[in-house]
Amino acid sequence: MPGRHPTSIGAARGLAPRTKACPESAVSDIGAPDQSHGPPVWGRRRVLLLNTTFEPLTALPLRRAVVLLVCGKAEVVHGDPSGLVLHSATDAVVVPSVIRLSSFVRVPYRARVPLTRAGLMHRDRYRCAYCGSRAETIDHVVPRSRGGEHSWANCVACCVKCNHRKADKLLSELGWRLRVVPRAPRGVHWRLLAGVGDADPQWLPYLGEPAA
Ligand SMILES: [Zn+2]
Repeated sequence: MPGRHPTSIGAARGLAPRTKACPESAVSDIGAPDQSHGPPVWGRRRVLLLNTTFEPLTALPLRRAVVLLVCGKAEVVHGDPSGLVLHSATDAVVVPSVIRLSSFVRVPYRARVPLTRAGLMHRDRYRCAYCGSRAETIDHVVPRSRGGEHSWANCVACCVKCNHRKADKLLSELGWRLRVVPRAPRGVHWRLLAGVGDADPQWLPYLGEPAA
């Protein structure tokens, strides 16, 4: 990743975030020297934000995550795997990968997870629902031409070969079986995964197993 080792970042020394009242401007100088030495570490980096209950809430830009830490509104659960630390003249903050809020926030009810190609591929782990090889297409288990819905329960990841062979037939006509029962995934982390291409492996325990 570009900007991973700017000059203002050194090895972690186990520094705890400070608790104090502070506006966002309080961290405006952290990492500022990076700007003149290549891409800033802020960049595209995302931090997984957990509720006090460890429920995943969202993926924050690094800068916003650092603001929460410096203001004492969140704590680091997992730091950057390579131990990066952001320094300013007066402060040092472990570059976080996963942080947890200090106070519980109530999450409003969210509508069903929309069916997207990315979401479906995540759910099925890019494996064909029929043969298990790498999936590149989406198949309607009951073909649309025969009344099948475009829904989580009727869509599966499918390899090109199986999709071509299956065409508009029913599984019973082919003697095929699904390797998994397709279901709609539940939980906010599905939105989160759809929006983040390369989640840190440290996030995965909090995102739960894909509903397969
Ligand atoms: Zn296949």
